[in-house]
Amino acid sequence: MSDFPFRFDKPRPYQDIMMSEIKSALSEKRSILVNAPTGIGKTDASISAVLEFAMSHGQKVFFLTPKISQHKIAVEVLSGIRKKFGLAISYIDIVGKRNLCVNNKINFIEGESFYRGCDSLVKTKKCSFYSKAKLKGSVDEVAQYAGLGHNMFFDACFSKGICAYEAASDLAKESNFIIADYAHILNPYTKAAFMKRIAGRLENSIIIWDEAHNILGAASSYLSATLSSYSIANAQKELAEIDNRLDITYLEFVLESIAGKRLSGTANAEAYFELEDMNSFMPSGIEEITEQFEKAGLEYVSKTEAKRSSLSHISRFLSALSGADDSCARIVSRRGRDVKLSITSLYPKEPLESLKEAYANVFMSGTLLPLEMYKELLGLKDAKTANLSSPFPKSNKLCLVDSETSTKYEYRSVENYKKIAEKIAVLKNRTNGNVAVFFPSFDVLDSVYRHMGRQVEYIQRRDMRTSAVESMIRDFKSCSDSLMFAVMGGSFSEGIDYSGNIIKGIIIVGIPLERPNLELNSKIAYMNKLFNGKGSEYAYIIPGVVRAAQAAGRAIRSESDRAFIVLMDKRYNWHLYRSLISNFVSVSKSEDNIRSISEFLGKATVTGKAKSE
Ligand code: SF4
Repeated sequence: MSDFPFRFDKPRPYQDIMMSEIKSALSEKRSILVNAPTGIGKTDASISAVLEFAMSHGQKVFFLTPKISQHKIAVEVLSGIRKKFGLAISYIDIVGKRNLCVNNKINFIEGESFYRGCDSLVKTKKCSFYSKAKLKGSVDEVAQYAGLGHNMFFDACFSKGICAYEAASDLAKESNFIIADYAHILNPYTKAAFMKRIAGRLENSIIIWDEAHNILGAASSYLSATLSSYSIANAQKELAEIDNRLDITYLEFVLESIAGKRLSGTANAEAYFELEDMNSFMPSGIEEITEQFEKAGLEYVSKTEAKRSSLSHISRFLSALSGADDSCARIVSRRGRDVKLSITSLYPKEPLESLKEAYANVFMSGTLLPLEMYKELLGLKDAKTANLSSPFPKSNKLCLVDSETSTKYEYRSVENYKKIAEKIAVLKNRTNGNVAVFFPSFDVLDSVYRHMGRQVEYIQRRDMRTSAVESMIRDFKSCSDSLMFAVMGGSFSEGIDYSGNIIKGIIIVGIPLERPNLELNSKIAYMNKLFNGKGSEYAYIIPGVVRAAQAAGRAIRSESDRAFIVLMDKRYNWHLYRSLISNFVSVSKSEDNIRSISEFLGKATVTGKAKSE
């Protein structure tokens, strides 16, 4: 243990195992996938273990996260290590270019338009912040702020009139450790620009992937795009506003023609379409048209100071369309009056190639199970795996299955929804504290809510704004005896901690399996080909169970948290689902759930030294 630059006196239970496992994988030049449940301290463990190896082997380290908010902890770890050991680690926290842009004339613009706008200002030498960043000695003026995180670095650059992105990229060239976003390596466009800018080479780098269960979804999203009749109508308004005569009326015709050819009638439906379906209606080549839309979008945002542009959105769709190969599904759909074309990545082959370029990768998450599946999905057959136990006392959690209900399609009846509502009411009445109920969809939530004979204080609604979500979570956390209804796979059930013993009980209603549609069917079929018939498991069943596990895990976030979990669906007793959910939570048997829960709630929380499960 003494080999590792570790900022605390001693590691927590399992943290030392995690560091040793990473060290051993790196010494064999192998990647490693670590399932590290909440409470292990995986950020400290991964950074300490990777730093120890990287410093003695001249490797650069990337710490990548799916969300900016997760950068903070990495900055704290590195700053703590540097302070304790006085090590010469140079690190920088980089976020997307737009978030490091200090130019108020452009940094409010969203999406592709921002990048095009920045390129244009740089080319025409109209960004003074860029020019200042290029002056000799400018970056040295802000270098001392590099270790304080991107917000303070931005402030320092802003006050000195220097482009924070340019300064951060310059410093990144010399840094041993770069904290950045998934997009910096997984988005092919961003990666090319970023690696060129920092003169980086992945073969001399170790990449730590935080919350690694998100990698496939994130990588796929960078290759997917949509075009709808709604966005075409908006694009026309934008052209009128800037008095641009570009004629895009043919796009409406393209959309309607594809819908007419591929969909029958005017009812809601979906079907596949081919690139040729579009080509035959286009006035010129797709590359030329993409460029026209890109230019017009840029003109619109710079003239009107709008945040985003539908013209740029269409340009992005056209470029995704021209690059779409057999790993993408092209789908046309009609919903009411809106017709939509979608390009959806079924498996992000190209972005995942980056993983193989690195010296090694460390993938970590609290829900990276089954590890063998992720290893196969990430295309790293030689990678090592480590599955660590939860450091929290097992006795602080009671998980039971209620097999008298189900939300499986054939059980969706008023009678069944009434039964679920009654059961939720009984459980809440027996609980002196907050209870959170998570549903597989808003439809099921609404159907059960209709039969609730008691008040539900907090209910997640469709299309809630971020501010409304935050305010509801804050209010729920401040309550001591409330009932909350929310859906699985959303802001209330993932990426949020209800620690401090805020929730005494969690009820999982049903299994949040995705609703079958063409996109899901295509994904399953494509993965069947790639992974030896395991498409349904990998694309449909396991993601659904992981969403349920994420929601079930919300209550126990520290060793003093104590809560019951009820899995309200008979399918959790079926062999397949039972074995999958058991990867995440140990399910107990009970002849009488209510009595077992009452007894559990009557007992005190077990704290103190954590025991292994
Ligand atoms: S060069 Fe920097 S400051 Fe200028 S527009 Fe681009 S990102 Fe913003």
